[in-house]
Parts: sequence; structure tokens; C-alpha cells
Amino acid sequence: MPELPEVETTLRGISPHIHGQTVANTIIRQPKLRWRIPDDLAHTLAGQTVLECTRRAKYLLIRFATGIVLIHLGMSGSLRIFTAGDARISSPDKHDHVDIVFADGTVLRLHDPRRFGAVLWFAGAPEHHPLLAALGPEPLSPQFNADYLYEKLRKQKRAAKLALMDNAVVVGVGNIYANECLFKAGVSPMRAANQITRQECALLVETIQAVLQRAIATGGSTLRDFVNSDGKSGYFQQEYTVYGRHNQPCLQCGDLIHKAVIGQRGTFYCTRCQK
Ligand SMILES: [Zn+2]
Repeated sequence: MPELPEVETTLRGISPHIHGQTVANTIIRQPKLRWRIPDDLAHTLAGQTVLECTRRAKYLLIRFATGIVLIHLGMSGSLRIFTAGDARISSPDKHDHVDIVFADGTVLRLHDPRRFGAVLWFAGAPEHHPLLAALGPEPLSPQFNADYLYEKLRKQKRAAKLALMDNAVVVGVGNIYANECLFKAGVSPMRAANQITRQECALLVETIQAVLQRAIATGGSTLRDFVNSDGKSGYFQQEYTVYGRHNQPCLQCGDLIHKAVIGQRGTFYCTRCQK
């Protein structure tokens, strides 16, 4: 599943090719994604120029004069750029559901085999969109800091891992990143959130930011894959220190890594290194 680093890498990969470009045509081959693509999207976008490309949580936001296109990659979605003249523009794959065609012939194409992605239109400021309004801060923003996290967690009795994965606390910490960050910060995923000290909150913030930044940096080396590629292998492989390592020796102490299920998600941890 594309996580925040993949979405950030996608943003950086596609932006230079579509920023300032004018939409000539929008082709919707399959409107039934997680939510139906608006029937009049092609009409809405025709002749409009891309003013800005940004990201909020795992949503890509393409801003036009009269509103924004929100794109979510869901479970299996990816975006690709094809430049004018590429033969694949006229021979889409069966999972290539949407093409935004620009005036110079460049195509932005959404490929999504499982169709949990989304392409939505919103004629307003992104922070007012129902999907974005209640989101917590971006993990790499100054708003996400030790004081903020401590204030949020000290009112919650639920497991630390569940709190970190809650988009209302901070966005972009999915299951894998939550496992990795708790391990690196030495905090048990089961510990009650209100039992985490301010000092541990500082360590968690530092760790979350370092892990995400490293993943984004890794993704940077795959930028060329966004242009004229087949779009089938867009996500980068990560090396995990604890995730998926059930019954293997802890990389810090050698004890075996445990596995539990918290919030229906696989949770991996070391009982010696994480308290
Ligand atoms: Zn250990």
C-alpha cells in the first residue's frame, strides 16, 4: 500500500511535468473507484491550468483556479507521466482508469488494479474538505513536536500504537511505520498512551521524522520511474528493523521478536528493548 513517503515521492515525480500546464481533455475509463469520479470532471477541468501541486496526508492536491482535484492512491494505485508521442498513451492497460491530457500532449495516468483509490473535485480550500478537515498535523511539520504529542497522548488510555496511527493525532504513520518507530524509540506498542513521558514523546517525534525522511530520500532515487514507465513497480522496498520479523532475533539485543495483533494489525516488538 502506498504510504506517505510514496505519496510524497509521487508528488515530486509528477509535479514538474504538470505544473503550469493546461488541461486539454480528461478521459475516465472507469469512474467506480472508492468513490465515484464526478461525471462532469472532464468538463470542469477543460481549459484550466495547474496552479500548484501539493500533498496533505496521503492525498495529492492539484489546484486549479476554480478548485482542487484530490487524488488518493488507495491500496494499489499509482500515477505515471507519459510524454507526447509515447505509444502507450493510445493503448491503456485495463487498470488505467483515468488520463488527464495536457495541451502539450503530456498525460497524467492513474493505474489502480484494486480500485480503492479516489479522484475527487472540490471547489473550495483543501482544509475545508470533509476528508481533510479533521486531520492532525503533518509529521514533518513544525506543528508536530514533543509538546504537541505529549498534550495529545496524555488524555488517552488506548495503546500507544493505536494513538500514533490515528490520523487525528498525526497523519502518515501507517502500520509499518508505527512498528518501526516504537521499536526505535524503545516504547512498547501496548503501553497506554497516557503513560508516555514528555521525553519519550520527543524521542518518538524525532524517530518518526527520521524514519519518514529516510523513506522519502530512498524514494527520491526512483523519481525517473514516474515518467514513461509501465507503472507496475512504483513502490520502493524498505529495510525493516522489527516489522515482519516475528521469531527472528532482535537486531539490538538478540531476543526473539514477538508478534501480537493490535487494532487488527500485525504488531512486532521486542519485550526487552521496548517498555
Ligand atoms: Zn531487543
